[in-house]
Amino acid sequence: MDCLFCSIIKGDIPSTKVYEDETVYAFKDINPMAPVHILIVPKQHISSINDVTEENSAVISHIYEVAAMLAKELGISESGYRVVSNCGADGGQTVFHLHFHILGGKKLNVTMC
Ligand code: 5GP
Ligand code: ZN
Repeated sequence: MDCLFCSIIKGDIPSTKVYEDETVYAFKDINPMAPVHILIVPKQHISSINDVTEENSAVISHIYEVAAMLAKELGISESGYRVVSNCGADGGQTVFHLHFHILGGKKLNVTMC
C-alpha cells in the first residue's frame, strides 16, 4: 500500500520526530499553520475517522494522552491549543492515514468552518 504517513513512520521518508512509542508517532508538519504544528498518527494504518472501530479505537485515547504530554513539553498547555482531525473531502483531509493536528503557540482563529 502506498501511504505517505506509513512511509514516514517506517523512516523511508524523513520527518522531524517529536515523539514515538509502540503505537503512535508524532512529527512536525511540513507546512506549519502555527508556531507549534505537530501531527500525531497511529502506527497502524487507519485511513480516517470513518475507519475507527471498537477493535482499533484504543489508540485514539492514547493519542489524546500523547497530545496532553506533548502540549506540556512544548509549552502550550497553559496558553491553549487545538486538536483537529480532518475527515474526507469536505473535511479537508489530504493524507488518508488518520492523523491529529496539534496547533498552538498563537491565538488561533475561532472559525469552525
Ligand atoms: P490533512 O490536510 O490531511 O488534514 O493534513 C495533512 C497534513 O500533512 C498537512 O498539514 C500537510 O502539511 C502535512 N504533510 C503533507 N506531506 C507531508 C510530509 O511529507 N511531511 C510532513 N512532515 N508533513 C506533511
Ligand atoms: Zn498509512
